[in-house]
Amino acid sequence: MPEDDILNTIKSWNNLQNNEKNMVLKKMSKSWDKINPPIGILKELLMLLEKMTDADMILPALINLWEKFKRPQKEMILRSLAKSSEKNIELWNKLTNAVKAELLELFSRKYTMAHAVFAARLIAEKHLKDTKVYIQLNEPEKTLEEYGSEKIGRVIAKECSENGKKELSIRIYYWCPSQETVKYDKRGYISEDCNRFIVSHELAHVILHLDYLVEILDCNRFRWHSSRYNSHNQETEADNFAKILSDLRDRHILKYFGHDSNIPSKKAIAKSYGNIKPEIIEKAIELDDLSEKFTMSNSIFAAKEIVSAIYESQDELPDEDNIREKLEQMQKDAKKLQDKKHGVQIYPAEGTERQDCVSIVPFLGIKGKLAGYFIALPKQNISKSSEDIAKTLCAFLLDYEKIREQNVQIFVNEENFGKGIGEFSDVLLKTRKSNIQAVAGKMKSRERILSLFSADES
Ligand SMILES: [Zn+2]
Repeated sequence: MPEDDILNTIKSWNNLQNNEKNMVLKKMSKSWDKINPPIGILKELLMLLEKMTDADMILPALINLWEKFKRPQKEMILRSLAKSSEKNIELWNKLTNAVKAELLELFSRKYTMAHAVFAARLIAEKHLKDTKVYIQLNEPEKTLEEYGSEKIGRVIAKECSENGKKELSIRIYYWCPSQETVKYDKRGYISEDCNRFIVSHELAHVILHLDYLVEILDCNRFRWHSSRYNSHNQETEADNFAKILSDLRDRHILKYFGHDSNIPSKKAIAKSYGNIKPEIIEKAIELDDLSEKFTMSNSIFAAKEIVSAIYESQDELPDEDNIREKLEQMQKDAKKLQDKKHGVQIYPAEGTERQDCVSIVPFLGIKGKLAGYFIALPKQNISKSSEDIAKTLCAFLLDYEKIREQNVQIFVNEENFGKGIGEFSDVLLKTRKSNIQAVAGKMKSRERILSLFSADES
């Protein structure tokens, strides 16, 4: 059966008998062996899935093909699960734990520099003293065609205060047409044309220009970071900070996942950039130092994205089809976005009342409404923390309803969440480790960074 015939048969799905439906799904599996997967067929099936038409038949067929799908196709499947009206949780629960763990890993990869985002939150809180700070990282959920060829990097901040309590919500938006997480130029320096650079640049504004950011806030309004508000000087500072921070991240990967022994000091790396203000070097190193204790951070953002997609209502979202033209409108809708789109927030935090077990602790926003959850970790080494976070993210993905209903501190153990959490965290940690090792293996800055080792001696 040629592909076109399969596609046409699926298009007339509702007129088919059950045995015909099964037959066409079987034939589809065979046609999927080709190098160019028949994307039109997948789209048709996902449309049926969204309407919950024969989901019991279609979803297992898609899961059987899982190995053959590429990343964008896997993402399409998740988006469809999220869109399937009220039945999305039901569909989500039909996925195996291994598929859920893999989806989480896939989504994790785009949250570059997530560990530094969590570290920046602590630094900002320390700096502002009496203000709670929350930072979210959001890649707009658009495809290349919908966004065009323009790079987007923005810091949006909003301040709230009530009953003597202050809260600063910061959101970093990024979009890079190359869609690459990390990219280098010919000499092994980070390219400005990748997500890691854009996120690091925006983080630099949060660290270096926080007072300015707070100063330009109108009461209760979001401000978009753009050259309209920032001086040329601030932009140069942020670029330099981003370059150093990226090298420090590579240094970390080389040190812990590579096979080299002569790793240069952080200072030697920063100094190789020549005449840069000492304050920028100090702050980049401070941020990197603090980042090191945040493990699994990109997976935390990915879990938040999946939980919001599957469990939080997507209704009444403001239309954001063309983000660049609708910035003004989005400012007005910012409050709505804050409440609806971004849903639950998840942050790692150290220290719990019970020191032997990781737990999920709900926290309230300034208005007394549930704002998110802390993953409260016992004081322990990084690898134990990674394992604890993996298990906790599993709890979110497998049983978020339980977490939401209980709405009090809940311990992450098999007693509360079942044996699946061990299995899930094993898959997640394993895929993750092999991905990072692959990154270390083809890191184009490696030679340049390692060559700085001798600079330490002098
Ligand atoms: Zn900037």
